Amino acid sequence: MIIKISNLSNGEYYYTFDKKAEDINLLDPFVGNILVEAKLQKSQRQIILNADIKANVNFECDRCSENFEQELTNDYKIVYYFSSEIKDEDQIDIKYISINTDKIDLTNDVRDYIQLAIPMKKLCKEDCKGLCVTCGKNLNNEDCKCIKEKVDPRWLPLEKLKKNIN
Ligand SMILES: [Zn+2]
Ligand SMILES: [Zn+2]
Repeated sequence: MIIKISNLSNGEYYYTFDKKAEDINLLDPFVGNILVEAKLQKSQRQIILNADIKANVNFECDRCSENFEQELTNDYKIVYYFSSEIKDEDQIDIKYISINTDKIDLTNDVRDYIQLAIPMKKLCKEDCKGLCVTCGKNLNNEDCKCIKEKVDPRWLPLEKLKKNIN
């Protein structure tokens, strides 16, 4: 994911990259291709780069253990400052590059930012019902009787009371 910047006159440019995840060292859970749409604004003193990343992952649901595919997206912005002396003070969103730099490589940043998009909690769907703790059935697919048969003993007196009232 390399953009050549030598001989690039000031202005706005758009780039698209479409690479296999494994080709930029994104392995499990990443599958398929990584798509990057980048906008580059070059001026005399700096280059502003905005990148939108799209990727597909294959997760195992934390609740029901089923595998599912999901799209992950993230975006980032980096300002590359042309500097006559190479400073060793890069920040997260600022990099200093030599006036003679002929290309910028997005690969490492794309890899870092899309990995940041991996959620802590991986759910096949927001309201995944998970597995029954008693029989292990996937409650998204079928109901089981385990829960209904169990009545919390604390409620038993109330149940009796209800019957008496009726
Ligand atoms: Zn699930
Ligand atoms: Zn059950």
